[in-house]
Amino acid sequence: MKVGIVGLGLIGGSLGLDLRDRGATVLGISRQEKTCRRAKELGVVDEWSLSAELLNTADIVFICTPIDNIAEKLGHIIPHLRPETIVTDVGSVKTSVVEQCSRLIQDYSKKIYFVGGHPMAGTAEQGIEAAQRNLFKGAPYVFTPTKITHSNSLNILKELAKSLGSMVHECTPENHDRAVAWISHLPIMVSASLIQSCWQESNNEVLNLAIKLASSGFRDTSRVGGGNPELGLNLAKHNREFLLESLEKYHEQLRIIIKLITQENWDALEVLLQSTQKQRRTFHHNFYLNNQFPDNDT
Ligand code: NAP
Repeated sequence: MKVGIVGLGLIGGSLGLDLRDRGATVLGISRQEKTCRRAKELGVVDEWSLSAELLNTADIVFICTPIDNIAEKLGHIIPHLRPETIVTDVGSVKTSVVEQCSRLIQDYSKKIYFVGGHPMAGTAEQGIEAAQRNLFKGAPYVFTPTKITHSNSLNILKELAKSLGSMVHECTPENHDRAVAWISHLPIMVSASLIQSCWQESNNEVLNLAIKLASSGFRDTSRVGGGNPELGLNLAKHNREFLLESLEKYHEQLRIIIKLITQENWDALEVLLQSTQKQRRTFHHNFYLNNQFPDNDT
C-alpha cells in the first residue's frame, strides 16, 4: 500500500513512522525542503517531494497540515491524485474542514473519496523533530462520515487506524466538535488561563518560589496550555461557537466555587468535590481502558 502524507510535522511524521513500520510505502510532501530531508533521515518517508505530483501513485493520502490549510491543500493535490484515491485529514476541528473538503471533491470530475478524521493524540511539541513511534497506540481515533461518505473508504481507514493501535470511533462532524470542545479545546484555554494567572503574582520572591515548588500537579494542569500556540489559535477560530459555550459554562462553574468559598460554605464545596471525584472516574475509566492510554494525549 502506498500512503501519501501532506505536512510532515508532529502528526504527519508520527503517522509516517508507524505506517512504514507496518509495511506501507510512505510518500511525503511538506512546505519546506529541510523538513522533507529530515523526514527521510528520520525514517518517516520512503520518498519526498515539494510537489504534489509525488502523490499520483498513492492509494490513501493523509492531510496533516494546520486546520487553516487543510481544504486548500486538498484543492492543491486533487489534480495529481489518481481516481478512487482515499483522502483523509487529521484536523482537530471537523465541521468546517469536512464541509469545505466535501464540496471540493464533489466539484471535481475525478472520483476522490474524502473522510474526515481526528487522531486524539499529540504532545506539546511540533514539527518533524517531534514525530514519534506509537503516538496513536491506545488513543481514540475518530472518523466523521457524512451522507456522501464512501462507506468502503471509511472501513479501510478504520482498519488502518486500528492497525496503529487506536480505538476507533465514528460520529458526525458537529458532535465531534461539541465533544472535543469539552475535553480538548476548553482544557487548553483553562490551562492557558491557569499559567497566565500564576504569572500575575506581583511579588517576585513568591513567584520564584512557586516556580521552584511546581511539581506533578502543576505539570499536569499546565501541559495543554503550554502547547503549540498555532494549534490553540486554530481550534478557537474553527470551533469558536462550541468553545465559547463550554467556556461560558466553565465560567459559571468558577463563579459557583468562588461563591461557596467566599461564603465559607464548606459543606456545599465538599459535596461538589465529591461529585467531581466520581465524575472524573467515568472519564478515567474510558481513558485507561485496556491500560493503554498514553500520557501524551491531546
Ligand atoms: P505541526 O507539528 O506544526 O506540523 C504541521 C506541518 O504542516 C508542519 O511541519 C509544516 O511543514 C506543514 N505546514 C504548515 N503550514 C503549512 C502550509 N501553509 N502549507 C503546507 N504545509 C504546511 O502540527 P501538528 O501538531 O502535526 O498538527 C497538524 C494537524 O494535526 C493539525 O490540523 C492539527 O489540528 C492536527 N492534530 C494535532 C494534534 C496535536 O496535539 N498536535 C493532535 C491531533 C490532530 P514544514 O515543516 O514543511 O513547514
